[in-house]
Amino acid sequence: MSDTSNAHAFRPALQRALDHSLDYLEALEENPVAATASLSTLRERLAKPLGDEGVTAERVIDDLVQDTTGGIVGSAGGRFFGWVIGGSLPAALAADWLTSAWDQNAASFSCAPAEAVVEEVCGTWLKELLGLPAHASFGLTSGCQMAHVTALASARHALLAHRGWDVERDGLFGAPAIRLLSSDQLHGSISQATRLIGMGTGAVQTLPCNDTGQLDAAVLEAALQQAPDAPTIVLLQAGDLNIGAYDCFAELIPLAHRYRAWVHVDGAFGLWANASPRYRHLLAGVEHADSWTTDGHKWLNVPYDSGYAFVAHPEAHQRTMGYQASYISYNEQVREQKDWSPEWSRRGRGFATYAALRQLGRGGAASLIERCCEAAHAIVTGVAALPGAQLMWEPQINQGLVRFLSPKPNATESDHDQWTDAVTAAILASGEALFSNTTWRGKRCMRTSVCNWQTDDEDVKRSIAAVASALRQRQA
Ligand SMILES: *Cc1c(COP(=O)(O)O)cnc(C)c1O
Repeated sequence: MSDTSNAHAFRPALQRALDHSLDYLEALEENPVAATASLSTLRERLAKPLGDEGVTAERVIDDLVQDTTGGIVGSAGGRFFGWVIGGSLPAALAADWLTSAWDQNAASFSCAPAEAVVEEVCGTWLKELLGLPAHASFGLTSGCQMAHVTALASARHALLAHRGWDVERDGLFGAPAIRLLSSDQLHGSISQATRLIGMGTGAVQTLPCNDTGQLDAAVLEAALQQAPDAPTIVLLQAGDLNIGAYDCFAELIPLAHRYRAWVHVDGAFGLWANASPRYRHLLAGVEHADSWTTDGHKWLNVPYDSGYAFVAHPEAHQRTMGYQASYISYNEQVREQKDWSPEWSRRGRGFATYAALRQLGRGGAASLIERCCEAAHAIVTGVAALPGAQLMWEPQINQGLVRFLSPKPNATESDHDQWTDAVTAAILASGEALFSNTTWRGKRCMRTSVCNWQTDDEDVKRSIAAVASALRQRQA
């Protein structure tokens, strides 16, 4: 390094990063939404020999931007509707940069005092917005997957402690087997979480959902009755990944509690409906569950990584995640973050959430949810009205499904499946919009998920036009 003053060593690289970031964000409207660089091109460019000599920080940043060109998908922009992916609010992105600059170790109050307080405030604000009980404990995690681990491990603690088993000390060998009951629309991250906490995916019993994607009370009750005394977790959905279905919490939670089951709610994005008076009714009764998980990096538009776990039984939560060591200075007055989430050292992920919530306010959060739902509805119904398209699920919130029908004479369902994938690929290749696919009730569908604060009327029009043009091009 040529500059002898460390104090000024950061400025050139950070200045370059700021310029490149703005160039990127301000070109999202014009640039293709999908990646354009191939796997081999990216490998060729990035797998440079690691020489003996380093390079200047600004050169590293310039090269990184150049070498990744075409390999960055436009998920930060308003015409990305694949999977369930949010963008970043300006305040959240800026706070995330500061988080890296401050480089706090958010394990503990003593090494990150302001972060610890910011997380306390985030917990309070999030519970208010999401309609969760004020007494619930919470932990900030890398995403909903690790929030599930946090919540389900707390459930494991409580269910086994109730049967005289200390799982934190004795582990699961020889413990009563815990089962998890869920509709068959559960997200894969639940299975991952059951593996990580030692329950195994074999402990997950999936139940058929009804026509509206919900778990019926009679179906759940029959499953509970099969082993009425077994330690049981009932998983309910607040917004499933394909159609955004909500289980009927007001009916199912009291039912599960009659069998002393622990009720966990996966609300990765759907819990955010509570921020809007228009959609809040979907969550009626959800506050009576035992744990809830959601993401900041999806619908709240916080940069990755940002998930939240909430537990109605703080002592179960802390017994599960807490750890005391002699080298940590304990102070009764403060909340030690590492006692509420699976990680020890981690970034101060509270700052970005805090910034997003402050930028939005309650009104902004409601409007973000409503605008996304309106855009999803307009896109899905607009696309479904095109010749050769079929409406499969009209959005109730921000998720919907369409299918494209093959023009082949006597086309079979399998022809329609292939055609649906081909049309989706043609839209992707146009660079105008990005949708992803799913198999829903045995049929290939194109999913639309709108989670980005930037999606506006112009994006909706452009996206429908892109689908129309891909259909025309395929049909020709
Ligand atoms: C995305 C998603 C998850 C997993 O969340 P991550 O943040 O990716 O770990 C879980 N459940 C649902 C319904 C989701 O959409």
